[in-house]
Amino acid sequence: MKIGFIGLGIMGRPMAGHLVKAGHEVTGYDLNPVEFGGALAGGVAEAVRGADVVITMLPADPQVEAVFPDISANARPDALYIDFSTITPQTSQKVAQQWKRSLDAPVSGGEKGAVDAVLSIMVGGSADDFEAARPVFEAVGKTYKLVGGPGAGQYVKAANQLVVGGTFALVAEAIVLMEAAGVDATAGLDVLAGGLAGSRILELKRASMLARDFRPGFRIDLHHKDMGIILDAARGAEVAIPMGALTAQLIAAARAQGHGGLDHSALLKVVEGLSR
Ligand code: NAD
Repeated sequence: MKIGFIGLGIMGRPMAGHLVKAGHEVTGYDLNPVEFGGALAGGVAEAVRGADVVITMLPADPQVEAVFPDISANARPDALYIDFSTITPQTSQKVAQQWKRSLDAPVSGGEKGAVDAVLSIMVGGSADDFEAARPVFEAVGKTYKLVGGPGAGQYVKAANQLVVGGTFALVAEAIVLMEAAGVDATAGLDVLAGGLAGSRILELKRASMLARDFRPGFRIDLHHKDMGIILDAARGAEVAIPMGALTAQLIAAARAQGHGGLDHSALLKVVEGLSR
């Protein structure tokens, strides 16, 4: 397939690379051009012209809203639009009203999931478009599900980020507690990882957290954006998510303390600061 790919950042670059390796003809565009294995365009219009599939992997709502007019003005009217970005369900729904064949398809799995092409993908849209997008999902992901109509993927991603943020906060508290008690926190987290407390976060992030290596990864700024989406979604659905609200405040504190550019595991800095 001919694919136009907008947004070649931490996630988009390896994803676009996998699409090239899967045999697709990919033209990429980013404000900061990077090599990804395919052709580079000088702008959105050039990247999407004539494409069967248009993809965006951008930071947040404003960037998707900024490029969408160029996409709709230059893409083939029958092109399939897949937005992998994590944005509000409302913006995904607005896009779906303006572009008939569109899917919101936020992902989970982090940079490593993108590099290894094993992302989990939560998809909102029509069954026909989901089927048409299968070769793309196959190239970048491992688990992908249609979870409802337009915007549904974003609601599932909000649920995902709720669990990820809360888990980071609790792992940070576990580290602070074990270190303060003078026990071997490295061995302690190994044991936790093998028991009921085990998680992908403990599996992938415990070594870097113990070493205080907070290079992103997934930036605090982006998780702060996601906590806003989560709290709005909960308000809209009229449900209470007290743990989510608490996690949102810890992430807000990390940002306020100047850690917005660090990995979200830097929540450990905030939790440590509460006791030292
Ligand atoms: P990133 O900031 O590394 O990449 C975004 C890219 O978009 C940047 O390279 C930027 O230059 C480009 N960009 C911004 N505005 C643009 C425009 N108008 N035209 C063209 N390019 C533009 O972010 P990321 O970490 O790759 O995240 C992308 C999305 O994926 C976000 O919505 C994020 O929440 C989500 N996400 C990230 C991770 C992760 O671990 N990093 C995991 C899952 C989901």
